[in-house]
Amino acid sequence: MVTIDGSQGEGGGQILRSTLALSLVTRRPVRIENIRAGRPKPGLMRQHLTAVQAAARIGSAEVTGAEIGSKALTFVPQTVTPGRYTFSVGTAGSATLVLQTVLPALMIADGPSQLTLEGGTHNQWAPTFEFLKHAYLPIVSRMGPKVTAALERHGFHPAGGGRFQVEIEPVPRLKPLDLLERGELKNRSASAVVANLPGHIGDREVTTILDRLNWPPTNSLVEVVPAHGPGNVVFATLEYEHVTEVFTGFGRVGASAEHVANEVVRDVRNYLRSETPVGHYLADQILLPQGLCAYQSRLDGEPGRSSFATGPLTRHGITHIEILRKLLDLQITVEDRPDRALHVVTVGP
Ligand code: ATP
Repeated sequence: MVTIDGSQGEGGGQILRSTLALSLVTRRPVRIENIRAGRPKPGLMRQHLTAVQAAARIGSAEVTGAEIGSKALTFVPQTVTPGRYTFSVGTAGSATLVLQTVLPALMIADGPSQLTLEGGTHNQWAPTFEFLKHAYLPIVSRMGPKVTAALERHGFHPAGGGRFQVEIEPVPRLKPLDLLERGELKNRSASAVVANLPGHIGDREVTTILDRLNWPPTNSLVEVVPAHGPGNVVFATLEYEHVTEVFTGFGRVGASAEHVANEVVRDVRNYLRSETPVGHYLADQILLPQGLCAYQSRLDGEPGRSSFATGPLTRHGITHIEILRKLLDLQITVEDRPDRALHVVTVGP
């Protein structure tokens, strides 16, 4: 059994989720210690426990230490069974992160899956449903599997209660993917969602983004939606030929709509100033499918090298690389290209 130290690098929930995802794919038993040791409240929280339970269900795994607050667990998977599942976080914890735990194994499983995920769909420190649908899943789909997601209800912190459906048509073998250029700009839009709060908040956010970035109003919208509690989120989306990036801001007490929109404007400007196709959130997330592709190709003796260009790697990105090296024994290089102010990450068998 391989042991992963959850306090390494970034020291948060991602080490746990990625370790479970890779254990399912390789059918390799794992032990994770010092879970989320880098966080003020270490150990398994509701969202992480749901990810453990979801992984255990699809992989018929034997698990010890699966309880709230647990700082160590062992996970011994058997076979991965695709099918229809519902995974419910039970709090406002991120349901998109639960999906990211089981998706790698299900997208190469031997049959389709239909998942219902319940919990937070719009959490500040996690991929939002829109990021998942427009930025992350299209990249996964370009590697072969067809994965689509449909939002039924928004779930904001602290009330939760969100729900979305995911359909997964797997492939036996992932295709490598290079993401080194953005390609032609196809669309740019701003949108806002408001739940149980005045709709003018969303109008002001979208207007601020469009004005400050000098974007046309085409495809921009404000949605007033039902939810279990109050919530507000605003997106700026840049759709290029090869990649879509979604920048997100969350409304919160004490921050004006204009302030929240300006935070998004700052992130968009930083991205536009650089030449990198892959922003820092997407960078740490696509390492997993690219790593899985490289791992499969080594088993089959076929070429499976993928790459992407991004800015300086975040601690999440660096930690992810360490986990992929340790669990899949992959060759991952990070090449600094100061001439173009970017880094090229290559993930090979
Ligand atoms: P904890 O840090 O409490 O352990 P966690 O398990 O929720 O929490 P992390 O380990 O920090 O989370 O991982 C968060 C993940 O969410 C990362 O993969 C990161 O790229 C992603 N993420 C965070 N914010 C955004 C955002 N605005 N857009 C897209 N993805 C995001």
